[in-house]
Amino acid sequence: MLPFKLAYHERYDLNLGAHVFPSEKFRLIHDKLLNDGIAEPDDFLRPEPATDADILRVHTQDWVQKLKTGTLTASEQMKLEVPYSPELVRAFWLAAGGTILAAESALQDGFGCNIGGGFHHAYPGHGEGFCAIHDLAVAIRTLQARHKITRAMVVDTDVHHGNGTAAIFGKDDSVFTLSIHQLNNYPAHKPHSTLDLNLEDGVADEEYLATLLPAVTKSIADFKPDILFYVGGADPYREDQLGGLDLSMEGLQKRDAGVFKQARAKNIPVVTTLAGGYARQLTDTIQIHVNTIEAAKHVAENQNQ
Ligand SMILES: [Zn+2]
Repeated sequence: MLPFKLAYHERYDLNLGAHVFPSEKFRLIHDKLLNDGIAEPDDFLRPEPATDADILRVHTQDWVQKLKTGTLTASEQMKLEVPYSPELVRAFWLAAGGTILAAESALQDGFGCNIGGGFHHAYPGHGEGFCAIHDLAVAIRTLQARHKITRAMVVDTDVHHGNGTAAIFGKDDSVFTLSIHQLNNYPAHKPHSTLDLNLEDGVADEEYLATLLPAVTKSIADFKPDILFYVGGADPYREDQLGGLDLSMEGLQKRDAGVFKQARAKNIPVVTTLAGGYARQLTDTIQIHVNTIEAAKHVAENQNQ
């Protein structure tokens, strides 16, 4: 039994078929967590889709309407880079519900993990880079509206800059956004996060961790968030097809554990989401995401001792 809950729904699958985004990864991670004995069936919570009212705390009425009625323009469809389907829309609403559920559960247990989400490229009025709905922003706004939190921090370790997050919270002092990413990569336009850690091509474990971890320490100390949302991209991995960094699997797990330890040492609840992962071998992507949950487990257990 894990000391925290995992939000998961079998309809997280984005229904993409053959695509560089392996949308069956959610199910494969769920299955591996069980098969490896890291989690038990009772550790999983089944989210409801976010309500439209929750989605509309972040997204425009126009964008929500287009998604619900399948009336995206050709250019909106192109930017999104995943084929439209009703299943896709349902999956994004569920992912947002899952991140809300994981966040509520983190407030109770210290950790809450969504085995999905991390769609950090979605903007209020359009989607891009495989992201239609910004689940993290929806969860932050929803928890603020429920008066559960005031100040949130987003630590985004996906290899791609968190442009949607930066755009949504750019003028909002209640949310601190940190993005560590490869500079010469998608997205071309990178609106400013509160803190952007721009990495050159080919950065490996040591330099990555030496850049990220002290920045997280300082950001937590200065900002004092009520909750930390972690975007645990698997794509800084050296075998990633859409990334140009050189991290090892061990380096990625040190990254996860390093951030989690610091937040939990200050008693800050941690919400984890998956984000991207496009390794040549799908099993590597799955393993990296599973390792994030395992890192959370270790940090939670060592804390309780
Ligand atoms: Zn990415």
